[in-house]
Amino acid sequence: MTRIVCIGECMVEMAPLDTVGTYRMGFAGDTLNTAWYLAKLLGDRAQIGYFTAVGTDSLSDQMLDFLGSAKIETTFILRRAEQTVGLYMIQLQDGERSFSYWRGQSAARTLAQSGKDIAKALDGADIAYFSGITLAILPEQDRDTLLEQLQDFGSHGGQVVFDPNLRPKLWHDTATMTSAITKAAQCSHVVLPSHEDEATWFGDATPMDTAKRYTDLGASIVVVKNGPGEIILHTERGAQHLAPTHVVNVVDTTAAGDSFNAGFLAACYTGLSPEHAVDTAAQLAARVVTHRGALVPEAIKAS
Ligand code: ADP
Repeated sequence: MTRIVCIGECMVEMAPLDTVGTYRMGFAGDTLNTAWYLAKLLGDRAQIGYFTAVGTDSLSDQMLDFLGSAKIETTFILRRAEQTVGLYMIQLQDGERSFSYWRGQSAARTLAQSGKDIAKALDGADIAYFSGITLAILPEQDRDTLLEQLQDFGSHGGQVVFDPNLRPKLWHDTATMTSAITKAAQCSHVVLPSHEDEATWFGDATPMDTAKRYTDLGASIVVVKNGPGEIILHTERGAQHLAPTHVVNVVDTTAAGDSFNAGFLAACYTGLSPEHAVDTAAQLAARVVTHRGALVPEAIKAS
């Protein structure tokens, strides 16, 4: 059975309820969102694992229970006795959402301290999935350790999939960010960027420029997302311009890209061509953006 391992940080999410000052606790995070959608989409047809580090406290236990209940395998998740998981709180003001984070000391920042732990988690896997946020939370040396392990995984037949997910606030400076993202793309077979971020931080004038830059770095498949705009699919057969599903009533674009990535990978895995996989991915993301929150079970049921 195909095994996909997603690597990154899952956080506690506190989302506001209607009564002021009350919140619902959940769990989310970019790579976790993708793992969650993959597990829902593929069910028993694939094994979806998550690799991160959490604490040994009861909140960390609850996070692992949540992952387990979503059929995400937690066997290789590291436990750190002195730390706990990161948290973010969503504030709603006049209909606008803003986010406050407590993740500076989170256990996930230690996930790549040992190359051996990463190698164990990836042993026997077919696909490794990670993002620019995964890299951003790591100390520089551990970032290199993770990329070395991914390079090794890729050179032994594994497929490395990367979403650059540029978040300058998480990085020391933008030069460090762009250099690390470029190195990560060089280890990756599939790169799934969002044009808006890439235009801002890499100066790409068009989505095609983004596609070309990542193709030149060695990726054999690049899918450039662009919100409601045209999607560029670049493969060894050249570039295609594809229209995303039109959405009339966008409610919340949280996890649009994360769900798109899961839809794309799941569709490729089930044998669809990359063109059809983009279409399936865009349909899933279109359903996700019509609901509030990152993890939308209704978006899956409708497929
Ligand atoms: P990210 O969430 O990573 O910034 P995008 O905003 O580019 O990613 O969105 C990813 C995908 O989600 C798009 O390619 C598209 O398929 C879908 N999507 C996002 N926003 C919209 C929208 N307003 N209308 C229709 N589809 C959207």
